[in-house]
Amino acid sequence: MKLAVIGTGYVGLVSGTCFADLGNEVICVDKLEDKVERLNRYDIPIYEPGLEELVRKNHQRDRLSFTTDIHSAVHHADIVLIAVGTPETESGAADMSFVYKVAEEIGESIEDDKYRVIVNKSTVPVGTAEKVEDLIKKQQPNANINVCSVPEFLREGSAVKDTFHPDRIIIGASDKRAESMLLELHSPLTDQIVVTDPRSSEMIKYASNAFLATKISFINEIANICDAYDADIKAVAEGMGLDNRIGPKFLNAGIGYGGSCFPKDVKALKHLAEERNYQPDILQAVMDVNEKQSHRMVEHLDRIFDGDIKGMTVAILGLAFKPNTDDMREAPSVKIIHELTEKGASVRAVDPIAANNARTLLPEDVHIVEDALEAIKDADAAFLVTEWDEFKKITADDFKRLLKQPVVIDGRNVFDRDLFKENGIIYHGIGRK
Ligand code: NAD
Repeated sequence: MKLAVIGTGYVGLVSGTCFADLGNEVICVDKLEDKVERLNRYDIPIYEPGLEELVRKNHQRDRLSFTTDIHSAVHHADIVLIAVGTPETESGAADMSFVYKVAEEIGESIEDDKYRVIVNKSTVPVGTAEKVEDLIKKQQPNANINVCSVPEFLREGSAVKDTFHPDRIIIGASDKRAESMLLELHSPLTDQIVVTDPRSSEMIKYASNAFLATKISFINEIANICDAYDADIKAVAEGMGLDNRIGPKFLNAGIGYGGSCFPKDVKALKHLAEERNYQPDILQAVMDVNEKQSHRMVEHLDRIFDGDIKGMTVAILGLAFKPNTDDMREAPSVKIIHELTEKGASVRAVDPIAANNARTLLPEDVHIVEDALEAIKDADAAFLVTEWDEFKKITADDFKRLLKQPVVIDGRNVFDRDLFKENGIIYHGIGRK
């Protein structure tokens, strides 16, 4: 099939490349000339395992190209996928300006009566497919199109794998012809395909992300209660997770969720509910717990030093919002580091991939180093923020030998608490007695 993918970020670039690898002819469009130019010489602007090889292979086989020219891409396509950003606005609503602009540009680009399916892959408010169809038809009243919703569920850090092996595909189709074209496009990926209407499909995406965020805030809340009663959240989560109705995933207590999706999507869903005069109490509680969670860890540190961390050096292990990505959007590290520096601590930070993206988000005097052991050397405390594999390998002995004071705040509960304590380390995890 001939595809145009508008927006070459984490979603557009990965899904466009994977669809090319399945044998489709894909033109990826971005408005940023610099990005397109980099992609044409295989300089991949995001960190995503396995992506560079796939881009190179499919570009060389003439199945994948990059351009700023949306007109020719739409002209060529049977299916146009919209994958631009929908960041949060001040009110919490999704900023739909990028999607609407693309809809207008698609309308301007359609000059013939060829049938095309327009697909929203961006995470968008319920009702957007209809709105996009209106905007396209305003530009080109004779456009022979249907607008559908196929939300994206890939995870940064395993985006290529997730695209080739999705748990499910949701097709929100407004028309039978569009439905069968989208089934043909997606059927090589999985047989777990749910076909529904566009509005339900748009809601499935928000509901899924809100549910995952709820699981995180829930287990963090239980961890905080464990802290107060000397129970161990690791054992509690294991015991809960063995119940098939609960399951073990997303039960790791930590410093709260971040990233480019959960924070904005929970807010956007709350905003949608409030627009229809429904007060979403659970969503509000999920956000409240998350807001406080990283702050609690700084409080633990403060308590260890009797409320005076002024002048101390804290090593921050990890800046990205999760391992295997360079994405710093809404990363809890930013909040934590600002709070520490406001309290007068010096911060020495390390991240294998995200350091460059982090620089502009952090106070100027934060010292970013290349190596984890260099970060902890002579620091007064170490704070594990992102559970990169290489940080998990730091031993109790390393911490003891290199830190000025053997204080470890484990924001992801990855270290062996008992071993660390046996080695004389002042260890603080989350909900870990
Ligand atoms: P991104 O910010 O990484 O990329 C968006 C791209 O769109 C940018 O390269 C930008 O230059 C381009 N763009 C904006 N306006 C354009 C226009 N008029 N023409 C051409 N290109 C244009 O965004 P992302 O992380 O890929 O997310 C895209 C959407 O997918 C969002 O709605 C997001 O919520 C959703 N989503 C993201 C993820 C994720 O893990 N990042 C997962 C699932 C869903």
